[in-house]
Amino acid sequence: MSVLSCEDLSVVIGRKPILSGVGLSFEVGRVTAVVGPNGAGKSTLLACLAGLRAPTTGTVTLDGEALAGMKPRPRARRLAFLPQIPEIAWAVEARTLVELGRTPFVGAWGQTGEDRAAVDRALAAANVEAFEHRIVDTLSGGERARVLIARALAGEPEWLLADEPLTGLDPAHQLDAAALFRRLAVSGVGVVVTLHDLSLALRMADRVIVMADGGVLADDPPATALTPDVLRRAYGVEATVTPGEGGPLVDVIRRA
Ligand code: ADP
Ligand code: MG
Repeated sequence: MSVLSCEDLSVVIGRKPILSGVGLSFEVGRVTAVVGPNGAGKSTLLACLAGLRAPTTGTVTLDGEALAGMKPRPRARRLAFLPQIPEIAWAVEARTLVELGRTPFVGAWGQTGEDRAAVDRALAAANVEAFEHRIVDTLSGGERARVLIARALAGEPEWLLADEPLTGLDPAHQLDAAALFRRLAVSGVGVVVTLHDLSLALRMADRVIVMADGGVLADDPPATALTPDVLRRAYGVEATVTPGEGGPLVDVIRRA
C-alpha cells in the first residue's frame, strides 16, 4: 500500500511564508480534496507533493523514500501531476498531447504496442476519443481539461495530483470527472485534487483538507471538515451545509 507523506513542509518566498509546517499523509485508494481560499497554498502544496517544487524546509516521501532523491523518470512513472493553468497553446493533435503522458515509459526504440494501448485507455477513460485527432488549440477549455486528464492517466500512475481539474468543466463533465476519479481510487490509485466547488468536494471526496494561510485548518471526512465554523474561519463567510438531492450542498449566505 503506497503512502505519500510530507513532514514539516514549509515554503518561504522572499520573506513570505507560503506553507508553514504542513504534515500530511496520503494513502492510495482514496480521493482527497484540498480546498481553501485563493492564495491558501493549495497549488504550492500539490507541486511539493509532486516533487516539482523544492520546499524551503521539510521533506516529501513516497513509501519512505525522499522524492527529492528520486530520479525524474521513475518518479514521473509513479506520480502524475495535472497543473492548474496548463500552457498548451500548441498546434498538436490531442492524441499527441496524451502520448506525452507516456514519456517516462517510452524507450529508445519508441512507442510499443503497450504504450499505444495505454494511450487508448486514457483517451477512453477521459471520454475524449471523439476528438483525438483535433488540434488542441481548437478545443474548448473543458475539452482541453479532459485531454489533460487523459495525458495524466496515460502513464497509468499510482498517484494523480490534480490542481483544479474540474474548473472550467460543465456540470455533466464535472460529474464524469468526479466518477472517473472515484473509479481510479477504487482501482488503487491515490487521487489528490484541489477544488473550489465545496459541494462537489463534499460529494466526491473521502477526505477533505481545508487550507488557509499556508496551514491546514481541517483534515477530516467531508462532513466533519466542511462545517459552518471551518467555512467561517477559512473563507470568512457564513455558510450552511444542507442535504440536497444529489448530496450535501454548501449554501454561502454572506460574508462573515
Ligand atoms: P492557492 O493555490 O491556494 O490559490 P498558491 O499555492 O498558488 O495558492 O499560492 C499561495 C501564495 O503564494 C499566494 O499568495 C501566491 O501569490 C504566493 N506565491 C505562489 N508562488 C509564488 C511565487 N513564485 N512568487 C511569489 N509568490 C508566490
Ligand atoms: Mg491554486
